[in-house]
Order: sequence, then C-alpha cells, then structure tokens
Amino acid sequence: MSQSQVWHPFTQHALEPAIPEIVRTEGAYLHKADGTRILDAISSWWVVTHGHRHPRIIKAIETTAASLDQIIFAGFTHEPAERLARALVGLAPPGLDWVFYSDSCSTCVEVALKMALGYFRNIGAPRSRIVAMEHSYHGDTIGTMSVGARGVFNAAYEPLLFEVDTIPFPAARREQETLDRFEAVTRDRHAAALIVEPLVLGAGGMLMYPAWVLTELKKIAEASGTLLIADEVMTGWGRTGTMFACEQASISPDILCTSKGLTGGVVPLAATLATDAIFHAHYSEDRKKTFFHSSSYTANPMACAAALANVEIWHDEPVAERVAALSARQAAGLRRFGDNPYFADSRATGTIAALDLRTGSAGYLAEIGPKLRAFFLERGLLVRPLGNVLYLLPPYCITDDELDGLYDAMEEAGERFGARP
Ligand SMILES: *Cc1c(COP(=O)(O)O)cnc(C)c1O
Repeated sequence: MSQSQVWHPFTQHALEPAIPEIVRTEGAYLHKADGTRILDAISSWWVVTHGHRHPRIIKAIETTAASLDQIIFAGFTHEPAERLARALVGLAPPGLDWVFYSDSCSTCVEVALKMALGYFRNIGAPRSRIVAMEHSYHGDTIGTMSVGARGVFNAAYEPLLFEVDTIPFPAARREQETLDRFEAVTRDRHAAALIVEPLVLGAGGMLMYPAWVLTELKKIAEASGTLLIADEVMTGWGRTGTMFACEQASISPDILCTSKGLTGGVVPLAATLATDAIFHAHYSEDRKKTFFHSSSYTANPMACAAALANVEIWHDEPVAERVAALSARQAAGLRRFGDNPYFADSRATGTIAALDLRTGSAGYLAEIGPKLRAFFLERGLLVRPLGNVLYLLPPYCITDDELDGLYDAMEEAGERFGARP
C-alpha cells in the first residue's frame, strides 16, 4: 500500500505501530489482508451485538437500497423509519412514546440535552443546569464533553465546555453520598436534567453500580421535576443482560438515547426517545416552540431497515438466551481471578466483564495500555484496555472456547505486566 493519509480516531500516530488493514468481517472475527484473523473481543468499540455482518441485516440494507437512499426527513417520511419507531416504542421502557432520529451516539445525546432545555423553556419555566455523574462519558462533541468527565481527552477544549453539577460515582457502600448529593443539587429546582449511563460507565473504566441506585436517582429526579436522561448508547440491546439497562431498575427515564447496538452495529444510526410531555411541550401553533434540530443523515432508510432487521432478529432468534448464557459465562470466567494477585475488582454486569490490572501506574495514559493492546494483538485478540482496566465486551456469537482463550490470555497478561500488591 502507498503512504496512508488517514488520520485515525484516538490514535497517536507518532507512537502507533503499522495499522493493520481489515479486508473482511464475519461473526466474531476481523480478517486481515495477510490472511490472519483477529477475535473481536470488544465488539468493535461496543457496537456489534449479534456478530459482524449478520446476514439478515445485510440483506435488509441491500433490499432497501433497491428503492430508497437518503431522503430529507423534515416534511417527509418513509416506511422503515415509521415501522422502526413503532418497534422502538414497543421495546423501550413504558412512557417513551416519541422517537427522534439522528446518526451518531454523540448526536443523540446532544439531542437529549436540547430536548430537556427546550422542554423547560417551552413550558415557561426555564431551567438550564445539567447534572452529570463523576467518571461519565457521553461523547466527543462540545456539549457531550461538557456533561462527561474532564481529563486529558478534553483538556484542550476545556475553555469551551459548559459547567455542570457533578454527583459522585456510587461506589460500593458509598451509594448514599451520591443520592444525598443529587438531592442537594436538585433542591433549588434549577436542574433541568440528570444524565447517566445506567448501571455501567463505559469509557470511564467499565465502572458498575447496582440498579437500586438508579431507581433512587429517578425518585429524587421526579420529586424535584428534574428530567432523567438515560444514555443507553453502550448499555442497550442486551449488553447489561436486559434489552435496556433501565429495566433492571424498573424505571422509565424521561429521555433515552440509543445507538451502538441499534443496527446490530452494522451501520450508523441513533435515536432519542422522549415522553409525551416532552413532545407536547414542543407541539404548538407557535413556530418558536419547534424542536430545532436535524442531522443531514437523519433516519437514513438503509440504516432504519438494518435496525428493523435487528429487532426481528431479537424476535425470531434466541438472542435473550444467548445474552443470558454469555452473561453466565462471563461471571464464571471472572471467578478464575478471585485470588489472582495481579488483578483487583473483578466485576460483571450482563455480557460485560472487567478487572483492574495491578500496575505501578494507573490512568488511561499509563504506558501499560498500548503494551497490553500489542500483547493481545500478537495473540490474534482485539482487547483494548482502558488504561489498566481490562474488559471483555464480546459479540453474542462468541463461543465458550473463544472466551476461554481470552481468559487464558488475560491471566498471562497479568503475570507478564502485573505487579503484586
Ligand atoms: C460511545 C458512547 C457515546 C458516543 O458515541 P459516538 O458514536 O462516538 O458519538 C456516548 N455515550 C456513551 C455511553 C457511549 O458509550
């Protein structure tokens, strides 16, 4: 190949070894140009659910492309978008009756924030404060960085980020602090919304908290008229064991963001679901109350058809059983690490398993990250630690043997790179 001119995401090109070229994807694997294959243990950054290129999803895209490509979605509609909206309302927690489409996770979160502020302005009781949870990640645009954790990722853009109220992460046995702090920041009734990743904070290090905390947060939000935005971008579509993580807390958020697994991870699409109250705050003969947001590729018909095929797969194939089996295997796999001196804090929620490698240095920029990545890649495994946090977030088609191989490699990595306490 000639010299690449591609600038890759989250990539320090000065330090990166040659970037492998992938020529084919299938099931749990990425196939390289040199004929070798890599086991995709992180579902290509959390997007793939069933496995790469599920035939039914690919077929739906092909079929739709025979009659539709992108159409303007302001003032026009199409069947895949209509059918998908009905399906999403049916699958989401009750009360989320309106579906607003966009094209990426960051965008669907931006849409959620704008809906919340628009709601309060349109009902004549403006609020603009957003409450966020410590260690959260909601995307890489200015708005979503503002509601996410501050750090090396966004230090350069800090002057542009807006201020938020932060509640502590509900670490084990310190959950009450989180609830007390949230109660305190909502007491003046100026908080428009609390935005949270339900049950698992992904990019923050696969940090997990129990469902009852989410239930309590929802109660406090309701009591103070604060909207709850559930960023289910990573947690949705079975990742945490249920279709949406909010189900485990028996709550309905006021706004729900979904994207990554929405099309099975095949093509980009996002949706922000909202309650009737939020829609109706924007429903008026007064044009100023319009929800002023659009992405050029809103509700792309092929992407909507891919998402519909994904919904059908959930319906027709034993996906829930696969998720349950994978969740049980992840929990069992972690048991191996209970007394492993090189690891701490082994944890699992649904299909996600994570542990912290004990090292001299922690944090995302710890040198250990790239070394671990290279270590796994040499073994044909795509594992991309978050600093010293090792996690497996595989597609649901992964086999027992493949998982065993991953756990073996993790043990080996512990011995190679870990430090005893
Ligand atoms: C990945 C992710 C996002 C942002 O997704 P992009 O597609 O990169 O914009 C937002 N929220 C959560 C919880 C995510 O995991």
